Amino acid sequence: MAEKNEAMDIITDPKNYTKLDQEVNDDPSVDDCANLSRRNFLKVGGVAAAAATLAGAGAAGFKIGRSDDAYTGYGRTYQGGDMFFNREPFRVKTAAMMEPVGKVERPDRYDFIFDRLKEVVGLLQKGEWNPGMGLEKLPGKVGEYYRKYPEKYRIMLDSLEKRAKSREDWEKGKHERYTLPAAYTEALAHGGMYNRYGSTVPEEPDDAYKETGEPQPPEKWDYRHVKREKPMEFKSPKHATDLIKRMAHLFGTSIVGIGKFDPRFMFTNKMRGMPNGGADWGDKVPEHWKSIIVFGVPMYWDQTYSAIGYCTSYDAYFRSRITAGLLERFINELGYPARAQFPGYHYEIMMEPYMLTTGLGEYSRSGMVMVPELGCNVRPAAVVTNIDFEYDEPISVKMSEFCMKCKICAETCPSGAISFEDEPTTVVRGFKRWLLDDEKCYSQWAAGHTVDALGCRVCIGVCPYSRKNTWIHTLSREIEPRDPTGLVASGLLAMQKNFFKYPKGEDFQADWLGGKEAVYHNPPWYLRAEEVFKDIEKTWEYHGMD
Ligand code: SF4
Ligand code: SF4
Repeated sequence: MAEKNEAMDIITDPKNYTKLDQEVNDDPSVDDCANLSRRNFLKVGGVAAAAATLAGAGAAGFKIGRSDDAYTGYGRTYQGGDMFFNREPFRVKTAAMMEPVGKVERPDRYDFIFDRLKEVVGLLQKGEWNPGMGLEKLPGKVGEYYRKYPEKYRIMLDSLEKRAKSREDWEKGKHERYTLPAAYTEALAHGGMYNRYGSTVPEEPDDAYKETGEPQPPEKWDYRHVKREKPMEFKSPKHATDLIKRMAHLFGTSIVGIGKFDPRFMFTNKMRGMPNGGADWGDKVPEHWKSIIVFGVPMYWDQTYSAIGYCTSYDAYFRSRITAGLLERFINELGYPARAQFPGYHYEIMMEPYMLTTGLGEYSRSGMVMVPELGCNVRPAAVVTNIDFEYDEPISVKMSEFCMKCKICAETCPSGAISFEDEPTTVVRGFKRWLLDDEKCYSQWAAGHTVDALGCRVCIGVCPYSRKNTWIHTLSREIEPRDPTGLVASGLLAMQKNFFKYPKGEDFQADWLGGKEAVYHNPPWYLRAEEVFKDIEKTWEYHGMD
């Protein structure tokens, strides 16, 4: 249980501000600040660049830290321009864990847990199968999948039971405690992401197929709004890149990278707009899928730090989806085909490898991609097109290396889904990496103590990289990757582990599973029903950090 929050006390103590403020103002070269750092870092050599960056980052970071804006959202601007991290010094030919060590295999749709669940739930609803009939009678490819992985089948059944129990719990009284988080989620999920009245942004090839019965292959769908006889010609790929990146920011994304489309990361047997959910699409790759624009936004921090009951992934899903829809249409208007890939089921591709190859971030222990500006707190989307761009290269900012020592997400994960291995050893479709046990993770989601089991996200909330953009984080982000000794990383990790006292993994579990329904940080006031409603009496504790 959290008792105090010493690091934040230090950061927010006005005494500390005043002193630093004078130092910065007295000497515009920020020498004191730089000297302080030199004492620490020049000793270890190879960090001349760090000193220069440090001076700027220190001053800029300090200003950001003083601003209220740093505490109210995910950046000072909606587009995240204030969170810029210069990737150029870190470009490498191959991203960490992207060097094949075996035969690179394409993912199948049944590798995606939500496609499996959708099929199982569909069979249950139609009465075509029930658990009493046993695994042998589970039909189709999902049956084949679970017969291959019987352990996962058992976890899946357990999750379905948990989910039913969670709903029962909701009816019995949990709806009071979680009134506001539920309203928040419903607004984003059904007001934005899953519009119950049929109109969605972006438009969906599946919807068109259902309405007309006519298949909507990418060769048709991706061109549907193209009205020009020939596409607008860019002066150069660089002009195309600059324009599209700028528009992506304008449409609401915080980070964006562009790469060559790589069919190795495209699902087989999955193509929206095609009969049978695209299950017969096979491994075809549309010929015009040449380039991919990859982008993402974070979830708001206050809710994310609370995690489980008080956060919702729809928060950022909704904004990344909107960006995807707007960008898709914009590209069509210029005369090019475009196909948006966005949360939740509307991907024909895996996002993570593209985030790595376009240099947005690095693969992490928790199975997500971490980006320098936002850590794991990023929800990606993409648009596939045939425009010629100047492609971004991967980066190496040593985040994956930090994961080797850190393990905070594994220690805190309520379901034990995250690996404790020091180094990644599992070969996943040809690449060596830490593998998230998706079935275990989902079993935690299924027990989420809110309406419709809202998932978990503890691993995002606790990750030291998922921090708001205060001066100290700006500073750390610039210095750590430039320190060849690893001392900075060790120091930051020690601070994280010693200053913050947070609940244990099992405490996050639902009370009916023996947990405390703990949160990482206590929820913000606007998600506490007892703070705003007359008739709600608080009969619970939050068990998180204040
Ligand atoms: S919590 Fe630590 S180990 Fe986990 S993803 Fe973040 S940095 Fe890596
Ligand atoms: S979402 Fe929750 S259960 Fe899943 S890996 Fe993260 S912490 Fe673990």
